[in-house]
Amino acid sequence: MRIVLTGAAGFLGSHLSARFLEEGHDVVGIDNLVTGSRENLAWLQGFPGFSFRRHDVSTSLYVQGDVDGVLHFASPASPVDYLELPIQTLKVGSLGTHNMLGLAKEKGARFLLASTSEVYGDPEVHPQPESYWGNVNPVGPRGVYDEAKRFAEAMVMAYHRHHGLDTRIARIFNTYGPRMRPGDGRVVSNFVVQALRGEPLTVYGDGSQTRSFCYVADEVEGLYRLFMSSEVDPVNVGNPHEFTIRELAEEILRQVEGPSTLEFRPLPEDDPQVRQPDITRAREILGWEPAVSLREGLERTIPYFRKRVEAEDVRARPVG
Ligand code: UDP
Repeated sequence: MRIVLTGAAGFLGSHLSARFLEEGHDVVGIDNLVTGSRENLAWLQGFPGFSFRRHDVSTSLYVQGDVDGVLHFASPASPVDYLELPIQTLKVGSLGTHNMLGLAKEKGARFLLASTSEVYGDPEVHPQPESYWGNVNPVGPRGVYDEAKRFAEAMVMAYHRHHGLDTRIARIFNTYGPRMRPGDGRVVSNFVVQALRGEPLTVYGDGSQTRSFCYVADEVEGLYRLFMSSEVDPVNVGNPHEFTIRELAEEILRQVEGPSTLEFRPLPEDDPQVRQPDITRAREILGWEPAVSLREGLERTIPYFRKRVEAEDVRARPVG
């Protein structure tokens, strides 16, 4: 197959591109490098089947030749990024999705949208099944990401119903692992980089809010299986083991064994209190569930960050 993957220089986009390349497919990676990294790109450029175009998919894109799959992963995805880039985030989720659906329709290609657990907002149903419609504040600071992704899902279903496009929607929950940007601003990269630098870990609120963290290899396996399946309705792809942010901080401190302590900071506006995927559908339809525990996943991730911290002046990026 020949795959067009937007956001190919990003964390998940680069891992998923590598997976397609390892399976013998060709990948045309697209990225405007606003939050994507040149290191990830250099890694992919080592595969003969990879080619790259620097482009902002919020404006239209023409790709020559046959295309079998379009996977839309481009977007700022860390809260600190989308708060700094609110208009770009809205545009890539809305106009970018529209443009990539147009490309898939033109080529007769299958389309996969990287959607998000953020479509559930600050959920009133726990854990979250795909049938839950969510609790999102459209005018709050996180609305730029959440509503763009909700619009994107609606657009994908409209192309499916109206144009008969073959589509998939993955709702991705918090994912971590090697190749995350050290300054990404999300909780795993912040805490690990802070612990390695001997700085205090910045816990927002009292750290009782929860997340369910999926190791990147598990996430990529789930996404690859979803793309290969025939499931059109949204599927949660995440790890159902739920931890408080305080528990995450304590596990990282235990593994890094440095002098760091915890520093409590105000909870950002509209920060979801709980999050855990109900993965019944993924288990049934894809025969998939995560295999890597948080403990093992961190054991594989910390050495990557350690190398980065030792080689360069990389820093965590907490809010405030
Ligand atoms: N968080 C934290 N300290 C940080 C970064 C994040 O306590 O330095 C918390 C944040 O308030 C949220 C959780 O960790 O409750 C996950 O935040 P992240 O930015 O990773 O992504 P989110 O799941 O909110 O999209």
